[in-house]
Amino acid sequence: MPKDFLKDAQEHYDVVVIGSGLAGLTTANILARQGRSVLLLEQHYKLGGMATWFKRPGGHIFDISLHGFPYGMVKSCRRYWSKEIADSIVQLDGVRFDNPMFSMWTSFTREDFTKQLIEKFGVPAERVVAFFDKARGMNFYDDQQTTTRELFDEFFPGREDVIRLLMEPITYANGSTLEDPAISYGIVFSNFMSKGVFTFQGGTDKLIHQMEAELKKSGVDIRINCDAQRINVRNGKVASVEIDAKGARRTIRCDAVVSNANIRQTIFELVGEEKFDRNFIDEAKAVRNNNSSTQVYIALAEEDRLDVHELGDLLFSSTAPTFQTEALLSRDITSRTFSFYYPKTRPHAKPRCLIVSSTNANYHDWADLPEDEYAASKADLCETTLDALDKYVPNIRTRAVHVEASTPRSFKHYTAHPAGASFGTKFEGLAVSRALPQQVTGLYHAGSVGIIMSGWLGAMNYGVIVANEVDNQLMTGSSRSTAAVEAAVVTG
Ligand SMILES: Cc1cc2nc3c(=O)[nH]c(=O)nc-3n(C[C@H](O)[C@H](O)[C@H](O)COP(=O)(O)OP(=O)(O)OC[C@H]3O[C@@H](n4cnc5c(N)ncnc54)[C@H](O)[C@@H]3O)c2cc1C
Repeated sequence: MPKDFLKDAQEHYDVVVIGSGLAGLTTANILARQGRSVLLLEQHYKLGGMATWFKRPGGHIFDISLHGFPYGMVKSCRRYWSKEIADSIVQLDGVRFDNPMFSMWTSFTREDFTKQLIEKFGVPAERVVAFFDKARGMNFYDDQQTTTRELFDEFFPGREDVIRLLMEPITYANGSTLEDPAISYGIVFSNFMSKGVFTFQGGTDKLIHQMEAELKKSGVDIRINCDAQRINVRNGKVASVEIDAKGARRTIRCDAVVSNANIRQTIFELVGEEKFDRNFIDEAKAVRNNNSSTQVYIALAEEDRLDVHELGDLLFSSTAPTFQTEALLSRDITSRTFSFYYPKTRPHAKPRCLIVSSTNANYHDWADLPEDEYAASKADLCETTLDALDKYVPNIRTRAVHVEASTPRSFKHYTAHPAGASFGTKFEGLAVSRALPQQVTGLYHAGSVGIIMSGWLGAMNYGVIVANEVDNQLMTGSSRSTAAVEAAVVTG
C-alpha cells in the first residue's frame, strides 16, 4: 500500500500554509502559537525550501544557502522561534574580496567599511557618512524610481571600484542589480552593515530540525510529500485546497491560505487568473522572476584542514576587470562567491572542511540543454571552479574527495520555483504579493519577493507580517493593516 501522507488530516483548518520555506515555516509557527489550526503542506520530502542541505558518503554535509545573513535574524528567531535557535547564530570570522580592482579583508560592518572607504579608497569622510545615512534612512515608502546606479552616481561618481565594493556582495545576496530601485539595495545593505554577517552554527539541518520541533510543539499539522495543486475560491473567498499526496488526492477546507510558493505560480497555477481583476492580472503578468544560481560543492579529505585566518568564511572573488551585472550572470563565469566551512560550522558532527562556490545564473542558459550537453556543462562548471579555487586553496584538485554541481534546473526541481529563481521576484513582485488579500478574501502570499523580502531574514520577516495579517482577518474578518509592513520592511 502506498503511504498516505495525509492520514488523519482534519477536514478543515483555519489556515493552510503551502510551502515550508523560511517564510512558510514562520507563518505557520506564529499562527499556531496564536491558537489557529494550521496545516503545513510541503511538496518535497524535506522541510526548509531553499534553506536546505544534503549529505554525501564520508560524512560530508553541504549547505545550500547558509552563506551569511544580517544580525536581524537573532531578533526574529528569538521572538518567533526560540532562544535556543537564536543562540546558535554566530558572526562570520572574516569576509574577503579579491578582484582586479582591489583585494581586502573586512568585518562587513559600517565601521570597517567607513574606515576602508576613507583610508584605502580615498573617499572623503563626509561623503561616506552621508551615503551610509542615506542608505540607512531608506524605507518602503520612499521614492521607488531612483535606481541603485543613480544612488551611487550621486555619492561616488566615476568610482567603479567603490561601486563594486558596495554592490557585488548585495548582488550575490539577493540578485539585485544597478538597474533595480535604490531602496531594494539600501535596505538590504544597511541590514548587513548594522553588525556584519552571521551564520547558523550547527548547519541548516540543525536549524530546520529545531524549527520542526517548535512547529510540533505549537501544534502545526506538518505534511511533507503533499503538493498543493489548486486553491479553490468561492464567492471571492478562499474555500479549500486540493492536494496531491503522492497520488492520493484530497480537498481540505480552510478559512485562509498562505502560499509560500512563487507569487506568479500562486496566481496563475494555484488560483487561476479568472479569479482576479483584469488590472491586477496585468500587473502580475509583468512581474519578473529574479535570477537563479549555480553552485559547486567540494569536500576535502577527512584529515585535511583549511585555515579560517588564511581564507576567511566568505570570499567574493572575480577576475572581471570591472563590475557588470551581465558578467555576474554569464555562463562564462568570472565571479564566484566561495563559502568555506570548517569544523566550527558543525561542532558536534565529524570534523570536515568543505567549500561551496556560488554564482548567479540565468535559467534559460541551462533549461533547454540536451541531457548530454547538460552533463558536460555541469562537469565543465566543476572543472573551471577548481581552476579558480586553486589560487586560494593550492592543489585543490588532489585535495578534493568529492565535487558536484547544481544548476538553475536543480533549484527549480527541488523548490518548484519557476526558472529556479533563487530570490523570488524583482521589485514589482512585492506590490502584487501585498495586494492578494484585496483580490480574494483569505488569500495571502509570504516568501521571497521583491528583492527586499528575500534571503533568510527577508523571507522570515515577511512570514511574520503575513501571519499577523491572517490572524487579524480570522479575528475580525477585515483585510490587512499596512503599518506592520512598513515597520518590518524598514527594520529588516
Ligand atoms: C544558491 C542559493 C544561495 C543562497 N544564499 C543565501 C544566503 O547566503 N543568505 C540568505 O539570507 N539567503 C540566501 N539565499 C536565499 C534564501 O535561501 C531564500 O531567499 C529563502 O530561503 C527563501 O525562503 P522562502 O520562504 O521564500 O521559500 P522557499 O525557500 O522558496 O521555499 C518555498 C517552498 O514551497 C514549496 N512549494 C512550492 N510550491 C508548492 C506547492 N504547490 N505545494 C507544496 N509546497 C510547495 C517548495 O517545495 C519550497 O519548499 C540563497 C538562495 C540560493 C538558491
